[in-house]
Amino acid sequence: MASELSDWIRVTHGVWRLVAQPEHVNIGLVVGDTGALLIDTGSWPEQGRRIRERAAEVADVTHVVVTHRHYDHFFGLAAFTDLPTIGHASLEQDLADPVVLEEAFELRIDPAELVLPSQLVHLATTVDLGGVRAEIVHFGPGHTAGDLVVIVPEHEVVFAGDLLESLDPPQFGPESSIAAWPAALDGILGILGEDALIVPGHGDPVDRVFAFDQRARISALYGQAEYLVKQGVAEEDAWEKGDWPFPEPTVRAALPLLYAELAGKGLIPREQLPVRPLS
Ligand SMILES: [Zn+2]
Repeated sequence: MASELSDWIRVTHGVWRLVAQPEHVNIGLVVGDTGALLIDTGSWPEQGRRIRERAAEVADVTHVVVTHRHYDHFFGLAAFTDLPTIGHASLEQDLADPVVLEEAFELRIDPAELVLPSQLVHLATTVDLGGVRAEIVHFGPGHTAGDLVVIVPEHEVVFAGDLLESLDPPQFGPESSIAAWPAALDGILGILGEDALIVPGHGDPVDRVFAFDQRARISALYGQAEYLVKQGVAEEDAWEKGDWPFPEPTVRAALPLLYAELAGKGLIPREQLPVRPLS
């Protein structure tokens, strides 16, 4: 197995990443003249402390962003409580979610070490690192209700969190919004130049074409489910009857969510509609 923390890998001038196990998560570091922004914190507080020590090989961390609620990005935050830390406002609710608390319990994390960022943002904020600024933006729900994206305009780099993944297909969970996800990616795609690099939550950096392809697949996933529901195909038959843009395990994981999202819009397979008796 790979060691718990990889070496720092240079993304571009002043921008670094390392890979933290066990989830192969990218930890980002953006260094300016007066500060250094860490993006995501690892899977538990001790790992966060080790990441902080390793960051000091490049630059002392002055600011931290958590891209979203999942433990491999969020649960190392306790190592940074003396610094300005930033996350989406929905993290406050997430910390009361039994699913999140169960994850922490399984990782044997002391509940006192599950901490909120010091600054909760709803839409956007900026961190000035001296000659480099980081724009931290919420483009709407997608992978979770509170995904934050970190844009570094001076170096044409975006940290996308798990809105994009290059190691595996994107992860669809109960907290995802598949219908809204493509619009969140449009927020990234809209500001990227031809040469921009995107650091996904997991996997090697990708370019605009890759991001557009994944955006199209997520859109097609939703579109295919909507089409099947309108044809009266039940959830349990949808994998067999559909033409899907992701492998079977990914689609099967997404189907309950897709059908629930569509039902929320009043779209359910016709055979399941109540039949009004003739009078
Ligand atoms: Zn995630």
